[in-house]
Amino acid sequence: MTDATAPQQTERTLVLVKPDGVERGLTGEVLRRIEAKGYRLVALELRQLDRETAARHYAEHEGKPFFEPLLEFITSGPLVAAVFEGQRVIEGFRSIAGATDPTVAAPGSIRGDLARDWGRKVIANIVHGSDSPESAAREIAIYFPGLA
Ligand code: UDP
Repeated sequence: MTDATAPQQTERTLVLVKPDGVERGLTGEVLRRIEAKGYRLVALELRQLDRETAARHYAEHEGKPFFEPLLEFITSGPLVAAVFEGQRVIEGFRSIAGATDPTVAAPGSIRGDLARDWGRKVIANIVHGSDSPESAAREIAIYFPGLA
């Protein structure tokens, strides 16, 4: 964990409400929780990903058994891409999102409160959030290339 008392630069993170979240009508609930925490929305778009863009986003998982199911899932319907800004927003959003596996994600987190195991080949866990400043810069450039 970062030293919470050290001066922090404002940073940005890429958040996705994945197709399961959009399909279930949870977009507003997800955005509400992030805004209520105090982070600032700086970009927002509803879009349908093509396979090539999805593979670019998840390049680090290429070759893993869940890679193909993940591409199918993330391109299965519209998703909402957003950029949020604030001190330590990358770490802060991952805390709001909760653990990858929604069955054991902490109650109070988005995944812990709103998702579970559905017996699918892929973990449908409502949201994505960048995991480092480097990932955030790379991912924001994929979804919002015009964002300075
Ligand atoms: N995923 C999956 N099975 C796994 C691991 C990951 O279906 O065994 C999916 C899941 O949707 C996850 C995404 O791939 O959110 C990216 O995985 P990562 O380990 O980066 O998790 P995250 O950062 O999203 O918590």
